[in-house]
Amino acid sequence: MVANRWNDKEANKYRVHAGDDLADQALAVQAYASRLLGADQALVQHGGGNTSCKVTRKDLFGADIPVLHIKGSGHDLALIQPAEMPAVRLQPLLALRTLGGLSDVDMVNTVRCNMLDASGPTPSVEILLHAYLPHAFINHTHATAMLAIADLPNAAEVVQEIFGDKVSVVPFYMPGFDLGKAAAEVYDANPDVEGLLLLNHGHFTFENDAKSAYDLMITHVNMVADWLGNKTGKVLKPSGQADPMMQAKAIEMMPVLRGILGDRRAQFLNMRDAPMPVMDLRAGGNVQEFFERSDVEDLAKRGVATPDHVIRTKNFPLVLNAKTLASGAGAISDAVDAYISDYTDYFTRNNARVGGHKIMLNPVPDVAWVQDVGIIGMGANGAAARIAADLAEQNIAAMSNGEDCGGFYPVGEADLFDMEYWSLEQAKLSSHKPARFAGHVVMVTGGGGAIGLATAQAFAALGANIFLVDLEEEALSKALNTFGPDHDGIALDITADGAADQAVAACIARFGGLDVLVSNAGAAWTGEMIGLDDALLRKSFELNFFAHQTFSKASAQVFETQSRGGQLLYNVSKQAVNPGKGFGAYGLPKAATFFLLRQLALELGPMGVRVNGINADRIRSGLLDDEFIKERAKARGIDEGTYMAGNLIRREVEARHVADAFVALALSERTTAHVMTVDGGNIEAALR
Ligand SMILES: [Zn+2]
Repeated sequence: MVANRWNDKEANKYRVHAGDDLADQALAVQAYASRLLGADQALVQHGGGNTSCKVTRKDLFGADIPVLHIKGSGHDLALIQPAEMPAVRLQPLLALRTLGGLSDVDMVNTVRCNMLDASGPTPSVEILLHAYLPHAFINHTHATAMLAIADLPNAAEVVQEIFGDKVSVVPFYMPGFDLGKAAAEVYDANPDVEGLLLLNHGHFTFENDAKSAYDLMITHVNMVADWLGNKTGKVLKPSGQADPMMQAKAIEMMPVLRGILGDRRAQFLNMRDAPMPVMDLRAGGNVQEFFERSDVEDLAKRGVATPDHVIRTKNFPLVLNAKTLASGAGAISDAVDAYISDYTDYFTRNNARVGGHKIMLNPVPDVAWVQDVGIIGMGANGAAARIAADLAEQNIAAMSNGEDCGGFYPVGEADLFDMEYWSLEQAKLSSHKPARFAGHVVMVTGGGGAIGLATAQAFAALGANIFLVDLEEEALSKALNTFGPDHDGIALDITADGAADQAVAACIARFGGLDVLVSNAGAAWTGEMIGLDDALLRKSFELNFFAHQTFSKASAQVFETQSRGGQLLYNVSKQAVNPGKGFGAYGLPKAATFFLLRQLALELGPMGVRVNGINADRIRSGLLDDEFIKERAKARGIDEGTYMAGNLIRREVEARHVADAFVALALSERTTAHVMTVDGGNIEAALR
């Protein structure tokens, strides 16, 4: 059941915050209702749905003009602000209804020309439908339960059974002028309705106050969920924990699939080093239950529950059944090629139908249904993968419920194509050049420390998805809090047996693979060699050498499976080449790591794997803390600032400078076996 989360006190806060203007107050309360709707995934998914309110505002001459505020296209309802619901003069929109037809270009132009704030976001493409209904507050969602009945062959009968005459049914039209007009005609035939069900698309509720319109949305969705529950004996339920067996299979197969998809994408883009997709696996109870159905392969060819999904999930998922998986990488590769060929045919066929002027999008699948593994969302970065996975989960819920209650029959190929290649839909996807590290999964050990965190942030700022590894749970979660939702990590002792495999497996389970390892974690133990305890030296070797080796090995195995290159980056140390008195226990394993870097560059080069490192010195961090700095400075008879800037350029070297150097190496696509010094200049430690 969907909870009614309306809270008068909260709503009132929005009203008060809006100031004295009644129109601003009404808009603020509708924004509050919109956020409640947007926050519930059973109602609204990523950028889907839209809401509006009609108010009166004054123009520059003091005249009252009726306006419609509606969600800006592509904005997220869950986070919507009043400013993201631009105002459009209502009369010109109403006047359009008399036209026999209206192109999308003319519609958008008329809407934009009538905005009160010319710099506001472009209003939702569903604006005319909102304009033609007389109510002051209107909500539109693509709720999972509603989609299950919106795709039934006898949807009208079912709506009558559930709602009587309280909800009318609108046939499928592309969003825009035609849908707005059709919905208005259906509404005019029975103006007492509380809502509209749009076949193959979604649902509207409306009222003259924000709370009532919101209440109706929740009530309607729950009435449908009840009906579905009674019919199927099942309740639409969210995902549970993944089965460990499924998880293990997923970790084995995802890098294989990722490599194949990356290869096909590179071929399509004609870019040798194009990044692979990032993946988001869903393998909870709902997915397991779905795969137990006998009609999975049939359902895979039906399409999407609402055409709104198609730009993020494509028309069909890639299906990998148990037989394909058992046959290995070659069979998976064949299945991907068959998918691409089907998609290309679909494009060619439909492009010819619409005049042949469309350009084919990347034909690589965005969603995979992998039997006994899970449902995988795939995209150019973690966010795109997450959105595709969320929509795919909603789709299987709507699909299986619909199929069990009379049949799942979404819009056909032609409508789906028109939606997918509709310029107004494509405009919702970012047209910006992708970030430099979009599609790159970067693992950073010691990710909670100063250098590790700064490095992870530098990669994330360029679009990478980060997987942090740190010894301390607390340091890890503190570090992860500085990132958005599409980053993750694991707390473990990297020197423990099997730790590297465990960390890499967790990274694959989260993102589908790995592109860059920043092997950064380290710690210094001091003491002159002759008096040094053997156990201490061995301990230092475990962390400062063996952990680098085990993480390199585990990472290189993933790189090999993906077959798309990869990168290993090490935090070596000035100590590896320029020993400091009493730092033998640190310098010796670092010197071994320095050699490891060169050895691996030699051995992994033919696989396209680049191996580079940083020699940093005198960076404020856990290794060189304030107490230690104080002591050192005192021992030399200088102040701390002078000590920290004790280099050729007389400037302190900070963690962010090391981070920049790691990024610079990662960007240097034809550089390997290179160590970059980041120490402000120290001629004794210069590499030659
Ligand atoms: Zn819609």
